[in-house]
Amino acid sequence: VRAQVMELINSPGIDYDMIGGLDDVLTEVIESVELPLTEPELFENIGIEPPTGVLLHGAPGTGKTLIAKAVASRAQATFVRMSGSDLIQKFVGEGARLVKDVFQMARDKAPSILFIDEIDAVGGMRTHDGTTGSAEVNRTMLQLLAEMDGFDATRDVKIIAATNRIDLLDPALLRPGRFDRVIEVPIPDEKGRAEILKIHTRKMNLDSDVDFDKLARLTDGLSGADLKVVTKEAGMFVLRRRGDKITMKDLMEAYEKVVTEEDTSTPHGM
Ligand code: ATP
Repeated sequence: VRAQVMELINSPGIDYDMIGGLDDVLTEVIESVELPLTEPELFENIGIEPPTGVLLHGAPGTGKTLIAKAVASRAQATFVRMSGSDLIQKFVGEGARLVKDVFQMARDKAPSILFIDEIDAVGGMRTHDGTTGSAEVNRTMLQLLAEMDGFDATRDVKIIAATNRIDLLDPALLRPGRFDRVIEVPIPDEKGRAEILKIHTRKMNLDSDVDFDKLARLTDGLSGADLKVVTKEAGMFVLRRRGDKITMKDLMEAYEKVVTEEDTSTPHGM
């Protein structure tokens, strides 16, 4: 069970330059997660404690997981991932025990980044209707709070949680000594979208007519994950005609395809 509930990656190999349009977010994450691991004396000298946990919130596909992996890579730390929704849906009755195990694993593998994805699944507003499902969720949540409270922020384990639904989170999670640093990961603006499109086409053979500024203007509202899909689709169009260069037309048509599919299916990540 342990092996299924968590994902362990030894320095995941994601560099900050693979993340587009999130400079301000990265600055905050570096100060609150990376530096406490790599240069703890900076905090000691000032006489302040680094945050215990950092909560990243924002729409699906905006790069929250990517950021956590990049910090782990930069700090040469083990990336330990646990999914709140897996805990609740796949391991009924074992949630509390598994939370304990995952925190222990993060300590054993230190220096490490413990990434808790979809924390709203465990850390949603506590329900009091007495159904077994929610009692189980409550137990899991209480264990999570206990682990956070017993956590030594000066040690070389850092906790990053992520959610798309900060509105659903139990405020108890956000108290001092728990996730006391909340960072919003926004949907990319025009400049951000241009950066992200460039990142995902870095290795692609692009025609000289590709105009990133124009594409960035066109793709308003798309997340980083959506933009990546657009570039992949464009690549598939080229493959289909056995071409070797991705043109502006391919990217525009890929964009059309992606937005049409999004309109007819449920929104990404919901
Ligand atoms: P979710 O809430 O759905 O788990 P998330 O915010 O954790 O989403 P990621 O899993 O980090 O999003 O993003 C999915 C993929 O989309 C990434 O692996 C990356 O390829 C691409 N991506 C997302 N945001 C960015 C970005 N800002 N820059 C570059 N690529 C991005």
